[in-house]
Amino acid sequence: MDIVEERPYRFRVERHGDMRVPGVVFASRALIPDARADKSLEQVANVATLPGIVEASYAMPDIHWGYGFPIGGVAATDVTDGGVVSPGGVGFDISCGVRLLAADLTRDRMPPPVLNDLMDRLDEGTPRGLGKGAVWPARDSGRHLRGVLESGARYLVELGHGVRRDLDRCEDGGGVADAQPEHVSARAIERGRDQLGSLGSGNHFLEVQVVDEVHDERIAAAFGLRAGQVCVMIHCGSRGLGHQVCTDHVRTMERTMGRYGITVPDRQLACVPVDSSEGRAYMGAMAAAANYGRANRHLLGESVRRAFHAVAGTDVELVYDVSHNLAKLERHQIDGRERELCVHRKGATRALPPAHPELPGDLATVGQPVLIPGTMGTSSYVLAGVPGGGAFYSTCHGAGRVQSRNQAAKAVNGRTLRDQMEAGGVAVRGTSWKGLAEEAPTAYKDVSEVVTVSERAGLAALVARLVPIGVLKG
Ligand code: 5GP
Ligand code: MN
Ligand code: MN
Repeated sequence: MDIVEERPYRFRVERHGDMRVPGVVFASRALIPDARADKSLEQVANVATLPGIVEASYAMPDIHWGYGFPIGGVAATDVTDGGVVSPGGVGFDISCGVRLLAADLTRDRMPPPVLNDLMDRLDEGTPRGLGKGAVWPARDSGRHLRGVLESGARYLVELGHGVRRDLDRCEDGGGVADAQPEHVSARAIERGRDQLGSLGSGNHFLEVQVVDEVHDERIAAAFGLRAGQVCVMIHCGSRGLGHQVCTDHVRTMERTMGRYGITVPDRQLACVPVDSSEGRAYMGAMAAAANYGRANRHLLGESVRRAFHAVAGTDVELVYDVSHNLAKLERHQIDGRERELCVHRKGATRALPPAHPELPGDLATVGQPVLIPGTMGTSSYVLAGVPGGGAFYSTCHGAGRVQSRNQAAKAVNGRTLRDQMEAGGVAVRGTSWKGLAEEAPTAYKDVSEVVTVSERAGLAALVARLVPIGVLKG
């Protein structure tokens, strides 16, 4: 794949074959070999062939291979011009994302015995792994599932879980509008019934972190963050329910896309026009699954609050909750004209600039908090959206893998990794040695490089760097 450096931190894949727009890859020269190592640049080119795509098929600096679309891919299609929606551009874990909570507590008040007590409580209070079990028993989930699918965390706040302010600090006010639970299959509902309030497996985690470095005092203060503060980062999504929604609608689109005259270079890019019955059904089901994901993180956030109250008697405030797997209808200026676009962000985080109408008042002067997990052994970052942010106001979503799970599990011994992390002052609560090894820091790119590229490419600004002190892995 030919790729040329357009300017620092921005590379270009020229149009060739059936590409309707060029590919644009945000990366440093150091990161390009990683992007070349798998088939992800071919995927960037494939996405550029989708009907209605505008501007470019974008790739974030954490790009790696994914189902159809690369992970770290952003693509927008013009809804009024036959633009398509593709479930592969959202991913199987619909609205997977990150919630960051900040405790009214600094690190010195969390010595090892207190931290261990906290970790044990979080361990007990956080169902995880592939198996069953959730904060909410199936009986409660069943009764409330409709409300959750319709309005996500908003519904939970009405029920008395969490406080109203939480919703201001959630993307979409805690719930995506226009959810259509009637397009969520019985099988998906069945899978979701006993998983509400559970982490899931592998890459999903709940981490106690400390703010190690503040890059921008003003923005950090507006986000409610200060140096030395103890935080909790939760990464999870919509579990089996979201997975089933993706599976169901991909199947339907594989069958029906031919009727719309659509051909794709890779079956995994199955898609239909947003403005079609199958397209609308997917958008409605995806929104419902996204609401399930938001509610899932909200319930886990509530158990974190309970654990902090019990162990340290302190309050925990929500910094922000944002997804990195979603397609959204948004209005953007294209060629001097405002258009309705379907913006796919798959392993990419929305990053709204200051003064954007969708931001709550107290974030208007600073922009949207952007939450970037790194690895359990290195750092994670908080960024902020910037004026003129590129790729439809999007940035990276993590460090991004350089090794598959299998490769990592072969290269690393889980028990040794745990011992090393504990010796380095990080309390570890895993579910299996293999699972831990699969998530070894060496399996990921250098997150500092990835966020630096995001900043220098003009996608987001650095606000704070966090380091782990306790890790609970799914
Ligand atoms: P994904 O949503 O693609 O599965 O993962 C998002 C990102 O989370 C990964 O690219 C990786 O950088 C980060 N990540 C995975 N495991 C951990 C962890 O245990 N702790 C932290 N802080 N980040 C992680
Ligand atoms: Mn996920
Ligand atoms: Mn994720």
